[in-house]
Amino acid sequence: MNIIEIAQKFPTEIDVIKHFEKVRWGKNIKCPFCKSKNIGTRNKDFRWHCKECQKSFSVTTGTKLHDTRLPLKIWLFAFGLISDAKKGISSKQLERNLGVHYETAWTMYHKIREMMMVENNEVMLSDVTEIDSTFIGGKPRKFQYEKKGTPLIIPELDSQKLEYEKMGFEFNEGIYKKPAKIGNQKRGKGVADYKETVAGIVQRGGDVFAEVVKNTNFSALKKIIDKHVLKDDSVLLMDKDTSQVKLGKIIDNIVIDHSKMYSYNGLNTNSIESFWAIIKRQIMGQHHHVSPKLLNNYVQEVVFKYNNRHEDDMFETLLKISMSSNK
Ligand SMILES: [Zn+2]
Repeated sequence: MNIIEIAQKFPTEIDVIKHFEKVRWGKNIKCPFCKSKNIGTRNKDFRWHCKECQKSFSVTTGTKLHDTRLPLKIWLFAFGLISDAKKGISSKQLERNLGVHYETAWTMYHKIREMMMVENNEVMLSDVTEIDSTFIGGKPRKFQYEKKGTPLIIPELDSQKLEYEKMGFEFNEGIYKKPAKIGNQKRGKGVADYKETVAGIVQRGGDVFAEVVKNTNFSALKKIIDKHVLKDDSVLLMDKDTSQVKLGKIIDNIVIDHSKMYSYNGLNTNSIESFWAIIKRQIMGQHHHVSPKLLNNYVQEVVFKYNNRHEDDMFETLLKISMSSNK
């Protein structure tokens, strides 16, 4: 929903509150403290009074928006503006569009990124998947492209590929999208003063999961795979440099030796490399001083938007998550 539609559909604060209530409770308002449906009439301050436990509550009580002092209309606009901005917007822009203080816009945006993380944490991948890690921050590095030369024949990869094809896997996506130049954004001057590692797994043609990690050793990568990959229905492609040979014990995989080539007949990590290009383009030029936690929030926004690239329900998703429990 764009902001014009939001403004038309919800002209006043009470319209907005009723919509949030519908998202949270459906038809029957329920006391968040004692779960009773024995609720009186709405107070003048829009709050409800529970006749059972005598406590008062609002639609945000106990939700992700529990502490907010802002009108819910501002949140609704923020969901709309951020969902609409495919490449993200700056907190400065959000400040202007919402008419709130910069600090408020900044805090809201990070809270919304944390809401995005809720959906990202549910990501489950299968089929042909690719794992890799990259650095974000530091000096911009030149991208490496496929080395030209005599095509190699590697019987071991051929037989591995054939084996998985017999099982029904297809390796037909092998296009590396050349990323746009990094650092050509208006605010993209200078060098970021941080350098963090991000690990990620993508399903070809499907969703991605990525997060800031302390290191890329076996247990760190295993943790991500255990949580986000259906191991029995997947074959994992990885680069020899970043692969941890031990991963072979927990999941079927094919290792590509990037010192020899970047792609071998559809065996490559091009999808995750393309995702790194998107992340770097959107984050590195914009943010020069970032803690790992905040950087992870930025990563989560890119992940969320990537996974929702074919659907236009980000607004509804954020609304739903905002009304979920803050526990
Ligand atoms: Zn109650």
